[in-house]
Amino acid sequence: MIKFFNTFSGRIEPFNPIVPKEVKLYTCGPTVYTYAHIGNFRAYIFEDLLKRFLLFMGNKVIHVMNITDVDDKTIKAANAEKVSLQQYTKKYIEAFFQDINTLNIAEADYYPRATEHIPDMVRIIKGLLKKRYAYEKDDSIYFDISKFPEYGKLSKIDLKELRSGQRLESDEYEKENACDFALWKNKKEEEPFWKTEIGAGRPGWHIECSAMSSKYLGHTFDIHCGGVDNIFPHHENEIAQSEAYSGKKFVIYWLHCHHLIVNGEKMSKSKGNQFILRDLLDKNFDGRAIRFLLLSTHYRKILNFTFEALDQAQASLQRIKDFIYELKNRPFKEGKNKDIPKLIEEMKQKFISGLSHDLNISVSLTALFELIKKANILISQGKVFRKDAENLIRFIRSINNVLAILPEEEQEDISPKIRDKIEARENARAEKKYKRADQIRKELLEQGILLEDTKDGVRWKIIKIKTQN
Ligand SMILES: [Zn+2]
Repeated sequence: MIKFFNTFSGRIEPFNPIVPKEVKLYTCGPTVYTYAHIGNFRAYIFEDLLKRFLLFMGNKVIHVMNITDVDDKTIKAANAEKVSLQQYTKKYIEAFFQDINTLNIAEADYYPRATEHIPDMVRIIKGLLKKRYAYEKDDSIYFDISKFPEYGKLSKIDLKELRSGQRLESDEYEKENACDFALWKNKKEEEPFWKTEIGAGRPGWHIECSAMSSKYLGHTFDIHCGGVDNIFPHHENEIAQSEAYSGKKFVIYWLHCHHLIVNGEKMSKSKGNQFILRDLLDKNFDGRAIRFLLLSTHYRKILNFTFEALDQAQASLQRIKDFIYELKNRPFKEGKNKDIPKLIEEMKQKFISGLSHDLNISVSLTALFELIKKANILISQGKVFRKDAENLIRFIRSINNVLAILPEEEQEDISPKIRDKIEARENARAEKKYKRADQIRKELLEQGILLEDTKDGVRWKIIKIKTQN
């Protein structure tokens, strides 16, 4: 049974999606006013781990991640550079997709952009006005939190000091400032605006997520994630808007990822300890190692980022890679050790039980390294055979579908020379020079590379030990 800590109830609960085996997941995406920093990526990697684990356990996952391309921050930044909002955000949207690719974060099914969903937001705001959850003031529209008795249940905020009738226009504010928040902001000088039925202006940040989540996932869906920073006011406001509008429960499970700090200190630009992914890549750290570090601390604990920890992550990753290299390239004898399937099964259960318990990654990673340690001892004793080695590789690959920390198979194995040869053979075949193609095939075979022609193109297999140099 899978269990998650639900921020809403404050408890660990069994996880049961509304439709069995089909999980609807919404994760708050980037505000594209600058490059995402490693704290942001910690949250995205936690969400990726969650999603990959749900998939691994046989669920279908429909994942939506929004792109906030209009809000206070993006507008301010675009104005500072004197370019249009669209021109400004384009660069950071592209950078975001590059970065998630570097970190091997699986793509969402939908990446809706706020600026492309203004009519969906307007529809909800109109509905809220009609139901009198919202009111107009100086051409802006606000949500009246006193009309929504559930307000504060997610963030456990004390509403005794609720300043009813007071309004806030800014997208982000502290708990002490809880009061009516802006759904729609009136047209201002030097701000982009949309002409709509509710007036000329632009949306507040919170309504974006309410509109885009319900559009792709329906009024009620299974899991909503974000960083702990999002709990108040962003997610609290999302609940208020969505539930007031639809009359239905908005989200069943709220999962939030904790902060990332650097060398024990809060990350901040002024301290110079706020890293973006590019900073780390420039220092020659590998994307997979960064991913490994960011996922290896439980998501509800503070992650203390240090370069020593990143070195360690790189070393741990190398241990897994070395192990696979050994399994692939050692001349194992034919045969089978019946203890290996038992060991694999035991570690698989441990791996699954760790992640099943509120994504307890430490337990799962311990299982992986325990397997490597035990298998290495068996290898040194000559108790691992060819079939066992294959089974071990298959197992690690299968759990790598969850962890996604190993390089693509192709990348780690063949040299550029061999790759060129395979390509030369492909070209010869395309030119119908079959004799030449066959000749190359033979040469590759002599070097231990077996080619297989499949309907998806040519695949290769290493059948001989590669000399290490
Ligand atoms: Zn959001």
